[in-house]
Amino acid sequence: MRKTQVNVDRLWATLMTHAEIGKLESGGICRETLTDVDKQGRDLFVQWCRDESLDVGIDEMGTIYATRPGTNSSLDPIAIGSHLDTQPTGGKFDGILGVLGGLEVIRTLNRAGIQTRRPITLINWTNEEGSRFQPSMVSSGVYAGVLTMADVAEIADADGIGFFEALEKIGYTGNEPVGARKFHSYLELHIEQGPVLEDEDTMIGVVTGAQAMSWNRFTVRGRESHAGTTPMSSRLDAMASANRLIARSFDLGNGIDDGRATVGVVRTEPASHNTIPHTVHFTLDMRHPDDVELARMIADLEVAVEEEHALGFEVSREEFGTAPAVRFDETCVDAIRDAAVEMGYSHRDIVSGAGHDAVYVSRVCPTAMVFTPCAGGISHNPIESITPEQAKAGVDVLLGATLRMADK
Ligand SMILES: [Zn+2]
Repeated sequence: MRKTQVNVDRLWATLMTHAEIGKLESGGICRETLTDVDKQGRDLFVQWCRDESLDVGIDEMGTIYATRPGTNSSLDPIAIGSHLDTQPTGGKFDGILGVLGGLEVIRTLNRAGIQTRRPITLINWTNEEGSRFQPSMVSSGVYAGVLTMADVAEIADADGIGFFEALEKIGYTGNEPVGARKFHSYLELHIEQGPVLEDEDTMIGVVTGAQAMSWNRFTVRGRESHAGTTPMSSRLDAMASANRLIARSFDLGNGIDDGRATVGVVRTEPASHNTIPHTVHFTLDMRHPDDVELARMIADLEVAVEEEHALGFEVSREEFGTAPAVRFDETCVDAIRDAAVEMGYSHRDIVSGAGHDAVYVSRVCPTAMVFTPCAGGISHNPIESITPEQAKAGVDVLLGATLRMADK
């Protein structure tokens, strides 16, 4: 017997209908959090949830919870979902696939008359993107206790409009305390936002966790002098030193499987084309799925810093951000892998390179994610694109995994 599958035409039509809200000429979406278009997107989503007889609740961060009862409604629900907000030049699928795919799971269960032991709660997290109000993933952050409501009260957009003021204005200030709802587990479907699945012609990424990160600011000090009169051998060129450190970072990133090293900001002083810089500032973002490997990369870098000291340079490294590696719950990961096998979709384990609401939620609740490919691995871009078949595969696996977890 074929396992229950989702309806690809209904799923695709739902995605395309919702993508009209905040639609850009370029084909993408501009639906930044807590704007009028975000309100329209939420209103339509809530309408669709009510059409499926879901019980809709909203918390003090404006996160929407829509619940389908289980046969034993005293049990904690299985949560599924993601986010409906986008970047200012966003695509049609980042986050949205996880929410509207979750809706398709519910519709499929309702049409097939399938009951589950546990309730299922579909979630739209407020402000995942962090473009209008920083930081990103703010409501799942409060849900998980990483941030507080007092922290959020300090947040304002570029026009000085406060987060809670904007939330009030669109009418989505709920009365449920954030974190009051407890879930048995949380499953999030998302596009990969990277090229791995597409390159390997693989339909499903079974996400086993998220990378560890270390964000660093380097300051290298040497001595300024004339670009023409100073022989190379008598310089204390801060750029030469920074260049060696940056090259070493890339070697470390390239030298370890799944290592990442990014130098995104470089600034010289005095920034004159014919003066050897006395100071170079640069940032270094290093990542690895394993905390131990990341620590080893940083230790190697410290050796390189010592070598620069020995040459007479002053080098300081300030770590301004860090996140440990996240390992998702094994039972949830297995449920996703088993669902992919059962449906006959090609799959591989993968570690998330980006932040997601699931990463915060995993701190307080067993969690895992499903990835589907996106064209060229491109997202946060209006050209972000997936096929109906890829959307269906992801939602089929979300359905299969949800059914497995909902009967535990
Ligand atoms: Zn997203």
